[in-house]
Amino acid sequence: MAVLLDGKQVSAATREGIRTEVEVLAGEGIVPGLAVVLVGDDVGSQVYVRNKKRACDELGIRSWQYTLPETTGQAELLALIDRLNRDPQVHGILVQSPLPAHIDEALVTNFIRPEKDVDAFHPFNVGRIVLGDYAYLPCTPAGIMEILRSYRIDPAGKHCVVVGRSHIVGRPMSMLLLHANATVTICHSHTRDLGAITRQAEILVAAVGRERFITADMVRDGAVVIDVGMNRDASGKLCGDVDFDAVREKASYITPVPGGVGPMTITMLMKNTVTAAKILSGKQAETLDTSSMRW
Ligand code: NDP
Repeated sequence: MAVLLDGKQVSAATREGIRTEVEVLAGEGIVPGLAVVLVGDDVGSQVYVRNKKRACDELGIRSWQYTLPETTGQAELLALIDRLNRDPQVHGILVQSPLPAHIDEALVTNFIRPEKDVDAFHPFNVGRIVLGDYAYLPCTPAGIMEILRSYRIDPAGKHCVVVGRSHIVGRPMSMLLLHANATVTICHSHTRDLGAITRQAEILVAAVGRERFITADMVRDGAVVIDVGMNRDASGKLCGDVDFDAVREKASYITPVPGGVGPMTITMLMKNTVTAAKILSGKQAETLDTSSMRW
C-alpha cells in the first residue's frame, strides 16, 4: 500500500518559510502585494480567487481583487493591467483563467510585466524556465517538486512520465524534472499505446483532466504517482486523474485528491509574489532559482 504524499503538510511547512520572509521584508518597509483580476462570473474561478486572497491574508501579503463583468472589453482589461504594471505597491499580477471568449488570453498574458508575472505564464518567463534560469516558479509543477523533495524522492536518473502537455502543467513539469536530471517522456492525446509508456514510469505525473483516467494496469509496481487532476465525478465529488483506490495498492507513493498537489499551487503563487517584491524593490537580482534542481 502506497505512502500518501501529504500536500497539505508540505504546503503548511512551505508557508511557514514564506511567512518568515514576509516578516523580514516588513521590517524593511516592504509589503508584498498581489493583484488578482477576475473577469466574468465563472464559479470555479471565484473559488480559486477567494482561496488566493485567503492565503495572502494568512501570510501578511497585501491583496487587491478586481472583479470585472463578463462584458468587459479587451482594451478596458489592458488599461487595468497597464495601471497595475505601473503601481509600485503591486508586485504580482494574476489574471484568472478562463477569460471570456472575446478576450485574447495570450495578448493579456503578454501584456503583464514579466517582473510581475507571478503565474510565470509570460513567454519571457516560460523561456527562462526552459533554459533552467528562472526566478518565477511555474506554480503547480514547482509545488510537485516541493512534495517530491520533502519526501526525499529524487528524480535524478529516473524515468519520469508526464501525461499532459499543457502550458500550465505538463510542459513546465517536464522541464523541472529534466532540470532535476530525470529522463522524461511527455505523453498527450496522440500518444500511441499510452499504457506501455506509463508502465515504464518510476515517477508518473497525471495531468489530463479526466476522471480516474490512469488505471492500475497502467502503473508500474512501486511507482511514485502524482495526480494533478481536479475533476468532478457524477456525484459532484472532487476526484483526480488517477483511479486512487486501485493504484494505491501498486504504487510506493501517491498524492491524494484532494490534499495532494492542489494545496501546493497557491503556496507557490505566494512564494512568487514574495520573490517579485524582492526583485522589484532591488533586494534580489533576477537570478536563477535552482531550488527545483537541488535534492
Ligand atoms: P489541459 O486540458 O490544458 O491539458 C490536458 C492534457 O491532457 C493535454 O495535453 C491533452 O493532450 C492530454 N490528454 C487528453 N486526453 C488524453 C489522452 N486520452 N491520452 C493522453 N493525454 C491526453 O489541462 P491542464 O493541464 O490545465 O489540467 C489537467 C488537470 O489538472 C485538470 O484536471 C485540471 O483541473 C488540473 N489542474 C490542477 C491544478 C492543481 O493545482 N492541482 C492546477 C492546474 C490544473 P493534447 O495536448 O494532445 O490535447
